[in-house]
Amino acid sequence: MNEFTIVFLALMLTSVCVHWLLCRRHVRHVRKHRAAVPAAFSDRIPLAAHQKAADYTESKVRLGLVDLAAGMILMLIWTLGGGLQLLDNAWRSMHLSTIWTGTVVILSFLAIAAVLDLPLSWYRTFRLEQRFGFNKSTLKIFFTDFAKHMVLGFLIGTPLLLLVLWIMDHTGAWWWLYVWCIWLGFSVFMIGIYPTFIAPLFNKFRPLENQELKQRVENLLTRNGFTSKGIFVMDGSTRSTHGNAYFTGLGANKRIVFFDTLINELSPEEIEAVLAHELGHFKCNHIRKRLITLGLTFFAGLALLGWLINMPWFYQGLGMQQPSTYIALLLFAIISPVFTFFLQPVFSHISRQHEFEADDFAAAQAQTGNLIQALVKLYRENANTLTPDPLYSAFHDSHPPAPIRIAHLNTKLA
Ligand SMILES: [Zn+2]
Repeated sequence: MNEFTIVFLALMLTSVCVHWLLCRRHVRHVRKHRAAVPAAFSDRIPLAAHQKAADYTESKVRLGLVDLAAGMILMLIWTLGGGLQLLDNAWRSMHLSTIWTGTVVILSFLAIAAVLDLPLSWYRTFRLEQRFGFNKSTLKIFFTDFAKHMVLGFLIGTPLLLLVLWIMDHTGAWWWLYVWCIWLGFSVFMIGIYPTFIAPLFNKFRPLENQELKQRVENLLTRNGFTSKGIFVMDGSTRSTHGNAYFTGLGANKRIVFFDTLINELSPEEIEAVLAHELGHFKCNHIRKRLITLGLTFFAGLALLGWLINMPWFYQGLGMQQPSTYIALLLFAIISPVFTFFLQPVFSHISRQHEFEADDFAAAQAQTGNLIQALVKLYRENANTLTPDPLYSAFHDSHPPAPIRIAHLNTKLA
């Protein structure tokens, strides 16, 4: 224990309190508006769907709080409770080289954390999502997914960790700059191989067959000078009824993916409007801006770690007796949520600005009415609340609240 312990605990307590207060406000606000559908939606969303959304929101918030509490308790057990020290001692007694010891300590930590997360993840899928009729997954799919994630993590994580820990031990004071370059290269590599090698391990993809929709999508892409390596439909319905559409891959290798659930729920004109919105994110350079922001955040984080790694109080303050490069890396990753929590409102704000800009782009493609209709359908189908607490929404929501977003689009209708 030292001054850093006190700073860490104080920030952790503050973040938990802020989050808890926001959640309480949110649930109260949603409950207060549960009795009636907001006027702007009264002709399109039935009362039963509105109330289902209210109950779903409340259940999700409650589970989120359990998740947060469990996460914080685990963080304390790993650090001040001596969990990490115990794991480190166990692997050190095997007398492997430092780099291998570091690699197995980090991998075993990640494996234990993933197993400890299983009960909550199971509850989310088979209790919460099930209760509201969204779950389509089975225990077999659930555990197969888990096993695949573990194997992938092991296969990709081992060489990456060996390389990173070797750089940390052999390249002097500027190691963090080299690690940042490795991270950058690795991220680009993963985005590049994701659509062709990773995603097909979990889902089936088939080319879009609906000719009317295909023609509409292709016209939209050509109009905007956009090239892609195909339009695919993904079997999202094997796990959940929630629908989505996204772009994936790099450069000319980009693919467009529609969840089959989305294709079943929306008309071709509505899907075209949703895709125009996604295209807007590209045209307004949001993807690039997001990657640059993420890159700069990692740069700052690694530079900070480059300094912390030489400070004995950093290790002692978090319950570790022996300093080492891999323990510094692991401690930093474990406690960073406590510090990044306070950046959340900034990132949420930027994200909501981007959503407005993408909506404006879609509206300029003369499909405002279709986009509004698609969004309202999606709010209804996914049981998104129409009445979030404004403060909670400002802090957490990556998308503008439904009434504000629809009102903004309505101004483009004229
Ligand atoms: Zn968007």
